[in-house]
Parts: sequence; C-alpha cells; structure tokens
Amino acid sequence: MPTDPVLVVHGGAWAMPDDMVDAHIRGVTNALATGWRVLDRGGSALDAVEEAVVIMEDDETFDAGRGSFLNRDGKVQLDALIMDGATLRAGGVGCVEHLRNPVRAARKILSESPHVYFVGEGAEKLAAEHGLPLCKNEDLVIPREVARLREYQAEAAQHGNDLFAPTISHDTVGAVALDRNGNIAAATSTGGTLNKAPGRLGDSSLIGCGCYADNLSAAVSTTGWGEPIMKLVLAKWTADRISAGNLPEWAAQEAMNHLKQRVNGHGGIIVLNPQGHFGVAHNTPRMAWAYKTVQKQEAGIAREA
Ligand code: ASP
Repeated sequence: MPTDPVLVVHGGAWAMPDDMVDAHIRGVTNALATGWRVLDRGGSALDAVEEAVVIMEDDETFDAGRGSFLNRDGKVQLDALIMDGATLRAGGVGCVEHLRNPVRAARKILSESPHVYFVGEGAEKLAAEHGLPLCKNEDLVIPREVARLREYQAEAAQHGNDLFAPTISHDTVGAVALDRNGNIAAATSTGGTLNKAPGRLGDSSLIGCGCYADNLSAAVSTTGWGEPIMKLVLAKWTADRISAGNLPEWAAQEAMNHLKQRVNGHGGIIVLNPQGHFGVAHNTPRMAWAYKTVQKQEAGIAREA
C-alpha cells in the first residue's frame, strides 16, 4: 500500500533577528513546495531532499551555496551530504569552493561512485566529470558576507569574539522526506561557520553528525555549532533513539537536551521516521522550519517542545 509522503525542511537555528524572519520563512516555504512536487508525483525521497536543498542553496538568505559565510581568508567553502535510508548509500563533499550546488555533487557521489566522500579539488573534479558546472569562488561571495566578515574580524581584533555564541548565525539548510514507497532520505548543506579556518569541516556533511537516514530508524538533519554536534554524532544518536522505539518528536527534543547538557552545544534538528512521524526542535531562540503532509502545511521560526 502506498505511504502518504511527508517533507520537513529547515533553514538554520539561531537568534534570527526580526528583519530576517520573512526571508527565512519564504525560503523554507519555496524549498518545501519544490520538494513536495517531487513526492506528490511519486518521486523518491532522495530526489525530494536534493531538490529542496538546491532551492535553499540558491537562496542567498541561507548559509549554503552562494551567499554563504566566508572563511577567515574571505572564501566560500561548502560542505554537503545526502543519504538514502533504503540502501544506506550516501554521498558527501567537503571544502568545495567552485560549486553552486554542493548537494548535487553529493548526489552524484551517492549515485555514481563506489566511494562515499570527496573533498576539495577531487570533489570538484568528480562533479565536473559528471556534468556539473564549476564556478569561480568569487561567484559565491556576496557583498553582505564581505561586510559581515570584515565587521566580525574588526570586532574580534578589538575585543575577542565568542565564536560560538548562540547569537552567531547558523543558517545551514536541510531536508528529510518520506516517499510513497515508504523510503526516507536526508540532505544537509552548509557554508559552515563565519570566519572558520580554511579546511575546517563541520558536522553538516559528516554521516551521522549533521545528516543521517536509515529506513530502520529515521532521517535526520541538524544545524548549529558544528563541533559539539560532531562530538556527539548527533544525527545517528537521534536515529538510535527512534530505533529503540521512541517517537521523533521526543527524540528531537532529547537530542537538543543532550547537546546542551553534555557539551554545551546549541542548534536545531529535524527528524522523520518511515511511519511519517516527525519532530522539529532547537535550543536556540529561533529556527526556520517548514513541513508538509497530505493534510497540512506549516512554516515557522520557533517550535515549542
Ligand atoms: N553546523 C554548521 C557547521 O558547523 C553550521 C550551521 O549549522 O550553520 O558547519
């Protein structure tokens, strides 16, 4: 019997200021519409999360694709992962500098390569060999981010900034989906953290940290301060709570409690199981999220536990 599809997306978790709320809601809603079209016509969860994430990578509101935060050297360096819950196949790219849509490269790795993870030039070469266009790094840099980095570095030189304050924006994007065949998938894409050291890789593109999908447990995508999330392998930790018999709503909230209590981390998470139950939780002041089921669609910037 066909399953009713479900799609959940996020566009980062942080103390998002009021004047950025509309752009975030618009962005996640657009991503939701595109991903839903795939599911609605019987497409796979894998295609749906890829297409939803591409929309947010293309939207300069978010820290993914063009418009991402700049690293210490003023460059955009992108990470992305996509994972198929039916087969456990996954594709990840790290520290790519010449791809507008790193999730597309991650998908090529998942579909076309015997390997799972590529970084830097090797990832870009593989993407180009599979027909994805390469761009200049400057094409990914926007004036807003040049100004933001300059301001951040000036402030840090004077006062020493708290790199990991929850007020620092975390605009990573992600999606989890359930398709009509009962399969789930997840994808996460990011420009990482502002002023990061070149070559630094965060949680987003690491299997089990910022993204995970297994039909036997759940599809998960996280956002937030990457280092603590990595230490807890948080996406897999959350999926394990589901396979132990807990509901995604509970597991999502529990993951945020665990993140705070164990390593003083902050962020947000979306979780979906193959039965179509899902959870959205964050321990930051706000998180951009949206979901759609056959019955209902909602988007918001805060989610009560
Ligand atoms: N988790 C991402 C990272 O640390 C950042 C984010 O979610 O905004 O790379």
